[in-house]
Amino acid sequence: MKPIATISRTKEIMEQHHLSLKKSLGQNFLIDVNILENIVSKAGVQKDDVVIEVGPGIGALTEQLARQAKYVYAFEIDGRLIDVLKDTLQPYHNVTVLHQDILEADLKGFIHEHVGSDVQVHVVANLPYYITTPILMKLLMENLPIKSITVMMQKEVAARMAAEPNTKEYGSLSIAVQYYTTSKVVMTVPKSCFMPQPNVDSAILQLTKREQPPVMVHNEDFYFELVKASFAQRRKTLKNNLKSAYKDQLTTEQIDEAFTQSGIDPTRRGESLSLKEFADLANTFEIYLRS
Ligand code: SAM
Repeated sequence: MKPIATISRTKEIMEQHHLSLKKSLGQNFLIDVNILENIVSKAGVQKDDVVIEVGPGIGALTEQLARQAKYVYAFEIDGRLIDVLKDTLQPYHNVTVLHQDILEADLKGFIHEHVGSDVQVHVVANLPYYITTPILMKLLMENLPIKSITVMMQKEVAARMAAEPNTKEYGSLSIAVQYYTTSKVVMTVPKSCFMPQPNVDSAILQLTKREQPPVMVHNEDFYFELVKASFAQRRKTLKNNLKSAYKDQLTTEQIDEAFTQSGIDPTRRGESLSLKEFADLANTFEIYLRS
């Protein structure tokens, strides 16, 4: 039988199940098997590995993952697709589809319960674009025992995640992603590879979890809070953004002193600071806010 990721098979499956696609759930299905094989190979999935997939759709990527991995767990929010997947993935006995919103799932508990501690777990997905950032933040911040995350997203969002300082793409998302992972864009994918075609091209981003954060931060929550405040108004200087954020807790003199102590020039803009410079700034501001 033809792979699911072909125009003819996708159309056939949709007709057979009277399926109309929900734009609100980011349903753009992949119809290019070469791209899918490439994703699976770039993800580095080996025969003994387990994969968690977000949003299997009608099973295009799931099928390719099932051919390569030991086991695939696929979380799908759309109840209509559960029956479709039972049918399309019927030849594969190493797949479990879970009818669940990934943002609500207790992934740590799930992995603990279903996967042996000596097994490598990868997350591989063609993400629903409307919730790319919340999904990735969940995967990164819950400190899950996963080896890698290889995910398709809008090209612009991938560029923001992998961005360097002093570029227009660099912002709090870049810093959060780079704090937890090393990331690289492994492939760009034209919109013609999807059905229906999205408005923008896509990219596959591979994220590898760091063993240790790249910079020493005293209080992670505060670090990310200060980063966010520093980008509140991109065109404003750090001093103006942080003054607006902390005017109720710190005097102007204390803010000036904190900048001097940190060694960061207050007239710079957030977009010019590295992760390390943000750490110096946050560690110093935290001391002033605590005293
Ligand atoms: N993997 C399929 C493919 O590549 O053809 C479909 C990918 S499609 C871009 C995104 C899928 O994620 C859809 O099937 C959609 O229903 C599902 N989805 C959307 N929101 C979700 C959520 N919160 N939790 C789990 N799945 C979700």
